[in-house]
Amino acid sequence: MPTTVLSSPAHYVQGKNVIAELGTHLKNLGSTPLLVADDIVWGIVEDALGKGFADAGLAVVRVGFGRFATPGAVDGLVETITSGGHDVIVGVGGGSAIDAAKAAGHLAGVRWASVPTAASSDAPTSALSVIYTEEGEFIEYRFFPHNPDLVLIDTQLVANAPVAFLVGGIGDALATWVEARATARGTGSTMAGGRPTHAGTALAQLSWDLLHENALAALDAVRAKVVTPALEAVVEANTLLSGLGFESGGLAAAHAIHNGLTAAPQTHGLSHGQKVNFGTTTQLVLEGADAEELADFVEFTTRVGLPNTLAEIGLTAENTAELRAVAEAACVEGETIHNMPFPVTPEAVVDAMLATDRIATRVRVERSLPAPQMHHAKH
Ligand SMILES: [Zn+2]
Repeated sequence: MPTTVLSSPAHYVQGKNVIAELGTHLKNLGSTPLLVADDIVWGIVEDALGKGFADAGLAVVRVGFGRFATPGAVDGLVETITSGGHDVIVGVGGGSAIDAAKAAGHLAGVRWASVPTAASSDAPTSALSVIYTEEGEFIEYRFFPHNPDLVLIDTQLVANAPVAFLVGGIGDALATWVEARATARGTGSTMAGGRPTHAGTALAQLSWDLLHENALAALDAVRAKVVTPALEAVVEANTLLSGLGFESGGLAAAHAIHNGLTAAPQTHGLSHGQKVNFGTTTQLVLEGADAEELADFVEFTTRVGLPNTLAEIGLTAENTAELRAVAEAACVEGETIHNMPFPVTPEAVVDAMLATDRIATRVRVERSLPAPQMHHAKH
């Protein structure tokens, strides 16, 4: 029988105002932490975080961060760790700062922690980083031998963050069960390096169920900047369950199509979760999902505010060269699309994207949902 693997962070802490406890948790990991956060994030967390650090007897050392986890940004952080004698690195903020901190911590041989300030993707819990170019194009996954020593997420910070961040995180998390289910039906490996455990697959499904029950109420909570049980459930679904579910349950077509989409300049400016959601809808079409299931997914994601048509990701059916390039990139050797339980070709991906656009547009008319708005990438 094939080997099954589950991989997880050592410690996961979630709750209202827990940013003030970061110092206490970090003290178990090291004595000279390096914090990585851009200026906007730092302005939000500095006071509460600094007070907790003072109580724990830790010095606050922070470096800024650009937009993407590029190879250069990672190497720069490794130098800062080495020259400053830091023994733990903490990525604070969005997925890119966290991905860069993880990659740098691994290269420098120190421990690392993830402190997301929004529930905008499931990257924080995983033992991998996604590396991009300065323009935000996907370059590679980098894998590490273990997950973060600590993941800490303050739900009041999530409630205060722009609602679009939570929408993106929901898009990323909705993909998890669709991809884990496909991986379980096939023969491929997960990011954790083996066949999925039953636990990994079940956590992916739990994420899906919690999102369907709580996503709309959680978005209302963020609009009101308040923490409710629905928001707590969605934060756990987006961060912990989707993180464990994708890493140990398996990625498939949705994320491969996302990676392909990053190469199309028209999609620039969209969040990870927005692009992933078009990928998830396309995966459902590619696998011949039940018409009712597909229509329900289109309706639910439209209500959440996620794209499921070409226009919403900046493309049209006439962009044949771009669609072909996206499909080619999604199907390169080693991409997770080959975890699907049947062979997938670029032709099939182009056809599925074109069909998705028609189906989603029709369902939105039939169910009296808002018409798609064209996304225009800023240059
Ligand atoms: Zn993702």
